Amino acid sequence: TISMAVIDKAGRIAVGTSTNGATFKIPGRVGDGPIAGSSAYADDEVGACGATGDGDIMMRFLPCYQVVENMRQGMEPKIAAADAMSRIARKYPDFVGAIFALNKNGVHAGACHGWTFQYSVRTPTMEDVEVFTVVP
Ligand code: ASP
Repeated sequence: TISMAVIDKAGRIAVGTSTNGATFKIPGRVGDGPIAGSSAYADDEVGACGATGDGDIMMRFLPCYQVVENMRQGMEPKIAAADAMSRIARKYPDFVGAIFALNKNGVHAGACHGWTFQYSVRTPTMEDVEVFTVVP
């Protein structure tokens, strides 16, 4: 799964997720990728979130919508992401998944459950991408 969020010069925020869903594929499965709020969500006024992991479980919680709404309420991205992960883990302790959170100021963080997760960041002032590792 590739999930990406961008903030343009005007402050507009967009996010998208693409997945082949191979890990969880059964015939006819669509997965969580196209479900708004599950694998991706963005609001120019707040920020964005992208997700990867066991979509059949994650889609029940709309974790990216949760993250953006958490940030809207004033949570920092790290807390917002951890909260969304823990809401899933409480009901499905064995699920595997991860999310990143990005607020409109460019502050970012990740949260994961059941695996170690990496995401990369590039800003106009950076020479190259920087990879961040998030541990459960
Ligand atoms: N979330 C994707 C799915 O369940 C898989 C993934 O993120 O790797 O289809």
